[in-house]
Amino acid sequence: MATHITTDCINCGACEPECPNEAISEGDSIYIIDPELCTECVGFYDHEACQAVCPVECCVPDPSHPEGEAELLERALRLHPDDGELKQRAEANTIVSRFRK
Ligand code: SF4
Ligand code: SF4
Repeated sequence: MATHITTDCINCGACEPECPNEAISEGDSIYIIDPELCTECVGFYDHEACQAVCPVECCVPDPSHPEGEAELLERALRLHPDDGELKQRAEANTIVSRFRK
């Protein structure tokens, strides 16, 4: 499930630099997440990094965008083709992921 930002967002900007995939940007009224870039931090953290820093905790799973770990990992690998460590961890099935906490 890709993460999305709800209308509770107060536009503080804290989440944007935390995303490993540069999926977050300033939208017209609130910050937004590009679902094509969000991996729910699979491959990088065992939690959603945006939600961890959000003062109002409004970076939450988008129920209209359900996705599993395999799909999210595939996206992470596609977005980071030069990340040898990620590739190695994927092959050894030792990635960090919110699904494995
Ligand atoms: S859940 Fe992770 S990958 Fe998705 S937008 Fe937040 S920080 Fe980026
Ligand atoms: S950290 Fe939360 S409140 Fe701040 S811009 Fe991101 S989503 Fe909005």
